[in-house]
Amino acid sequence: MLLQILLTLWRRGKPCSRRAVMSTGCLILSLILGMTSGCGKHEATPGVTSAYSGFVCAACGAKFYVSGPVSGESCPQCKRTEVQPVLAFVCATDGHTTIDVRRSRLIPCEQCKAQTTSFRDPTEGELQAWGAVQKPKADVAGK
Ligand SMILES: [Zn+2]
Ligand SMILES: [Zn+2]
Repeated sequence: MLLQILLTLWRRGKPCSRRAVMSTGCLILSLILGMTSGCGKHEATPGVTSAYSGFVCAACGAKFYVSGPVSGESCPQCKRTEVQPVLAFVCATDGHTTIDVRRSRLIPCEQCKAQTTSFRDPTEGELQAWGAVQKPKADVAGK
Protein backbone atom coordinates (compact mmCIF):
# COMPACT_ATOMS: atom_id res chain seq x y z
CA MET A 1 0.00 0.00 0.00
CA LEU A 2 2.59 2.51 1.15
CA LEU A 3 5.07 1.10 -1.33
CA GLN A 4 2.53 1.49 -4.16
CA ILE A 5 2.08 5.18 -3.34
CA LEU A 6 5.81 5.64 -3.29
CA LEU A 7 6.17 3.80 -6.60
CA THR A 8 3.44 5.92 -8.20
CA LEU A 9 5.12 9.07 -6.98
CA TRP A 10 8.40 7.73 -8.29
CA ARG A 11 7.01 7.09 -11.78
CA ARG A 12 5.26 10.45 -12.00
CA GLY A 13 7.99 12.46 -10.40
CA LYS A 14 10.65 14.64 -11.89
CA PRO A 15 14.27 13.86 -10.86
CA CYS A 16 14.16 16.31 -7.95
CA SER A 17 10.96 14.91 -6.50
CA ARG A 18 12.30 11.38 -7.00
CA ARG A 19 15.00 12.26 -4.55
CA ALA A 20 12.31 13.39 -2.13
CA VAL A 21 10.48 10.09 -2.56
CA MET A 22 13.73 8.23 -1.97
CA SER A 23 14.45 10.08 1.25
CA THR A 24 10.86 9.62 2.44
CA GLY A 25 11.16 5.92 1.72
CA CYS A 26 14.42 5.77 3.65
CA LEU A 27 12.88 7.65 6.55
CA ILE A 28 9.90 5.28 6.73
CA LEU A 29 12.20 2.27 6.48
CA SER A 30 14.46 3.52 9.27
CA LEU A 31 11.40 4.29 11.40
CA ILE A 32 10.12 0.73 10.92
CA LEU A 33 13.56 -0.68 11.69
CA GLY A 34 13.81 1.57 14.74
CA MET A 35 10.42 0.40 16.01
CA THR A 36 11.14 -3.29 15.61
CA SER A 37 14.61 -3.07 17.17
CA GLY A 38 13.24 -0.94 20.00
CA CYS A 39 10.60 -3.54 20.96
CA GLY A 40 12.87 -5.80 22.96
CA LYS A 41 14.33 -3.02 25.05
CA HIS A 42 12.83 -2.01 28.37
CA GLU A 43 14.98 0.94 29.18
CA ALA A 44 15.39 4.27 27.49
CA THR A 45 18.57 4.65 25.49
CA PRO A 46 20.95 7.04 27.20
CA GLY A 47 21.79 10.07 25.14
CA VAL A 48 18.28 10.69 23.87
CA THR A 49 16.34 13.62 25.32
CA SER A 50 15.44 12.63 28.84
CA ALA A 51 11.79 12.63 29.89
CA TYR A 52 12.66 13.76 33.41
CA SER A 53 15.49 15.66 35.06
CA GLY A 54 16.10 14.82 38.72
CA PHE A 55 18.09 16.94 41.17
CA VAL A 56 19.21 17.03 44.78
CA CYS A 57 19.99 20.31 46.52
CA ALA A 58 23.44 20.32 48.11
CA ALA A 59 22.41 23.15 50.45
CA CYS A 60 19.13 21.88 51.96
CA GLY A 61 18.92 18.29 50.68
CA ALA A 62 15.64 18.77 48.78
CA LYS A 63 14.99 16.10 46.13
CA PHE A 64 12.97 17.20 43.17
CA TYR A 65 12.44 16.59 39.46
CA VAL A 66 10.97 18.32 36.45
CA SER A 67 9.52 17.04 33.21
CA GLY A 68 12.05 17.37 30.39
CA PRO A 69 15.44 19.08 30.35
CA VAL A 70 16.03 22.26 32.33
CA SER A 71 19.00 24.61 32.57
CA GLY A 72 20.38 27.02 35.15
CA GLU A 73 18.70 25.13 37.97
CA SER A 74 17.97 26.55 41.40
CA CYS A 75 16.41 24.82 44.41
CA PRO A 76 12.60 25.27 44.59
CA GLN A 77 12.84 25.08 48.39
CA CYS A 78 15.79 27.27 49.44
CA LYS A 79 16.29 29.06 46.07
CA ARG A 80 20.03 28.43 46.09
CA THR A 81 21.85 27.22 43.01
CA GLU A 82 23.86 24.36 44.57
CA VAL A 83 21.68 21.73 42.92
CA GLN A 84 23.17 18.57 41.45
CA PRO A 85 21.64 16.47 38.68
CA VAL A 86 21.05 12.82 39.54
CA LEU A 87 21.37 9.65 37.46
CA ALA A 88 20.10 6.08 37.77
CA PHE A 89 23.05 3.72 38.35
CA VAL A 90 22.11 0.23 37.22
CA CYS A 91 23.32 -2.92 39.01
CA ALA A 92 23.76 -5.94 36.76
CA THR A 93 23.76 -8.34 39.74
CA ASP A 94 20.21 -7.71 40.98
CA GLY A 95 18.86 -5.22 38.44
CA HIS A 96 18.44 -2.59 41.15
CA THR A 97 18.83 1.08 40.25
CA THR A 98 20.54 3.45 42.65
CA ILE A 99 19.74 7.14 42.26
CA ASP A 100 22.69 9.37 43.02
CA VAL A 101 24.34 12.56 41.85
CA ARG A 102 26.10 12.53 38.51
CA ARG A 103 29.77 11.70 38.94
CA SER A 104 32.73 10.60 36.87
CA ARG A 105 32.75 6.98 38.05
CA LEU A 106 30.19 4.27 38.78
CA ILE A 107 29.04 3.81 42.39
CA PRO A 108 28.26 0.67 44.45
CA CYS A 109 24.67 -0.63 44.37
CA GLU A 110 22.75 0.57 47.44
CA GLN A 111 21.04 -2.82 47.70
CA CYS A 112 23.77 -5.47 47.23
CA LYS A 113 26.92 -3.26 47.41
CA ALA A 114 28.26 -4.64 44.13
CA GLN A 115 29.66 -2.13 41.67
CA THR A 116 26.99 -0.78 39.34
CA THR A 117 27.67 -1.44 35.67
CA SER A 118 25.94 1.38 33.81
CA PHE A 119 23.95 4.55 34.27
CA ARG A 120 21.12 6.29 32.46
CA ASP A 121 18.51 8.97 33.00
CA PRO A 122 16.15 8.01 35.82
CA THR A 123 12.49 7.30 35.13
CA GLU A 124 9.68 9.13 36.91
CA GLY A 125 8.91 6.04 39.01
CA GLU A 126 12.54 5.73 40.11
CA LEU A 127 12.68 9.41 41.04
CA GLN A 128 9.47 9.11 43.08
CA ALA A 129 10.72 5.95 44.84
CA TRP A 130 13.90 7.84 45.67
CA GLY A 131 11.78 10.53 47.37
CA ALA A 132 11.83 13.29 44.76
CA VAL A 133 8.78 15.46 44.20
CA GLN A 134 7.80 16.93 40.85
CA LYS A 135 8.17 20.70 40.61
CA PRO A 136 6.99 23.08 37.90
CA LYS A 137 9.80 24.00 35.54
CA ALA A 138 9.36 27.67 36.40
CA ASP A 139 10.27 26.93 40.05
CA VAL A 140 13.54 25.27 39.04
CA ALA A 141 14.75 27.06 35.91
CA GLY A 142 17.30 29.80 36.44
CA LYS A 143 16.76 33.41 35.51
ZN1 LIG B 1 17.75 23.73 48.64
ZN1 LIG C 1 22.74 -4.66 43.33
